Amino acid sequence: MSSVGCSLFCSVFEDEHELAMGDYESAQARWCPGCGDHAVLTAMQRLLAEEQLRRESTVFVSGIGCSSRFPHYIKTYGFHGLHGRALPVATGIKLHRPELDVFVVMGDGDCVSIGAGHWVHATRYNMDMVALLLDNEVYGLTKNQTSPTTPAGHATNTQPYGSYLPAMNPVEATLGITNASFVAQTAEWIPPHLYATLKAAYRHNGFAFVRILQRCPKFTGDIFQRYIQSPDMVELMEHEAGIETPALHAIYKNQRRHDPSDLDAARRLAETDDVVRLGIFFRDETLPRYEETRALPAFTAEERISILNEEFDRYAV
Ligand code: SF4
Repeated sequence: MSSVGCSLFCSVFEDEHELAMGDYESAQARWCPGCGDHAVLTAMQRLLAEEQLRRESTVFVSGIGCSSRFPHYIKTYGFHGLHGRALPVATGIKLHRPELDVFVVMGDGDCVSIGAGHWVHATRYNMDMVALLLDNEVYGLTKNQTSPTTPAGHATNTQPYGSYLPAMNPVEATLGITNASFVAQTAEWIPPHLYATLKAAYRHNGFAFVRILQRCPKFTGDIFQRYIQSPDMVELMEHEAGIETPALHAIYKNQRRHDPSDLDAARRLAETDDVVRLGIFFRDETLPRYEETRALPAFTAEERISILNEEFDRYAV
């Protein structure tokens, strides 16, 4: 993986040929065997190849956590940053290099705990990027502490008698943020659904927030088992304006038509229920994007210096 520092000034890839999935493979992933992060990595490499994203114009940004090792395993530019700070780094990159495709990879501790303020405001800023929340419902890298999405009653090292509080619902919370423009949920153990969701998120014009339910066999192996063993506990939300996965209908018989332009319905459906709902809850490409406020006239360097000097003169004493 190359550093973003270099990417701002030069390119080490300069792709001119058609790229295959293997062209996006980097170091051997060191996640535990059976970890859901492997499936997300594979789906993402497939998306990059199918969309023919140029490696020199693609950036993956992460914070801290197991899933935040993502940029090391994908051969594009990348930035493995500080805990909870992936989104401010990503928004900075996008503001100054709007032509880049920016992907953000966060865990639940990273996004909805220490990074919660950034999550709220990045959603509201609605800048054109894909933000993935790989939610294994525990702190995995630091070895099994309760996170905001850990289910009530689930024992961890920090709450050995079970988590005291009801789990936070990141989809419901994101749908409550002003100017949220794309909110989806998928599961890494259903690869066709995962891929269809990633593709829709990438093609969305704005901030695409995707919560990916992610197995952590090491610490939360039991949490998603009931959904895996009983497909009837999964409900697919389908719509021509959202995603449609007819190949899954034989297994996932529980389906619902949901128009993702209906925010009220999206909020109702996002509330915790006995079933887990997968698909696009909400999508609106007409909402304002922060980078549009930066559409300033193109000044020369001399003009910019002159404008700055005028501004400084206002404060001269
Ligand atoms: Fe994956 Fe859990 Fe292992 Fe982390 S601890 S790599 S989340 S299985």
